[in-house]
Amino acid sequence: MNIIEFESKEQLGKEAAAIIAHAIAAKPDAVLGLATGGTPIDTYKELIQLHQAHQLSFKQTKTINLDEYAGLDPEHENSYMTYMKRHLFDHIDLPQGQYFLPNGNAAHLEKECLRYDQLIEDVGGIDLQLLGIGQNGHIGFNEPGTPFNSKTHVVQLDENTRQANARYFSSIDEVPTHAITMGIASILSSKKILLLASGKSKAKVIQYLEQAEIHPDFPASALKLHEDVTVLIDREAGSLR
Ligand code: PGA
Repeated sequence: MNIIEFESKEQLGKEAAAIIAHAIAAKPDAVLGLATGGTPIDTYKELIQLHQAHQLSFKQTKTINLDEYAGLDPEHENSYMTYMKRHLFDHIDLPQGQYFLPNGNAAHLEKECLRYDQLIEDVGGIDLQLLGIGQNGHIGFNEPGTPFNSKTHVVQLDENTRQANARYFSSIDEVPTHAITMGIASILSSKKILLLASGKSKAKVIQYLEQAEIHPDFPASALKLHEDVTVLIDREAGSLR
């Protein structure tokens, strides 16, 4: 696990975008695993700028998102589909039909999980997986205790996670209680992994990540089992190292 620290979250975003752009330049039909949340927004801004400067095309690229809330329509303002359109898809040349998120509103969520695993297999696996990290060490919505051999599954969200995400909703009661997430095994099967963390609220978890033993109680520790993981942090997230 290679940890690189930057002065600011903007610089971190620039570097993450450069790594993604490099992956697409090397393989235009790359499959990108994408994440939502506050952290990757700067990265997506940079990718949009590179695209607008005619330095990056997503025409042949496919994207597979990590997770989606259960029980929200994809058109809901807080769905991760809406987030991805708002922060990336609506501003780049990624064709419709080449981006994928779990359908959290499917009639049969378990079947939807199986469909998503098959989809990941059908596109040939993920070349580069972008990840954030929760304050409790979750990756995707894989909360503490998730088995490392898990594939896409339905999860009950930790109270801590619902609280952290309540800022996007008008009240905590509106934050969904469940989600669909790619599992730890799905994440570890990506060829390359890029984890981003910024801000003071991530300082403890980054400190812990460096020291933690590999154990399901701290989901991000599973990344130590992967041979190509780069962790980009800003100064604040690195302040307790
Ligand atoms: P954040 O979420 O980027 O909004 O901090 C990260 C996560 O919970 O995985």
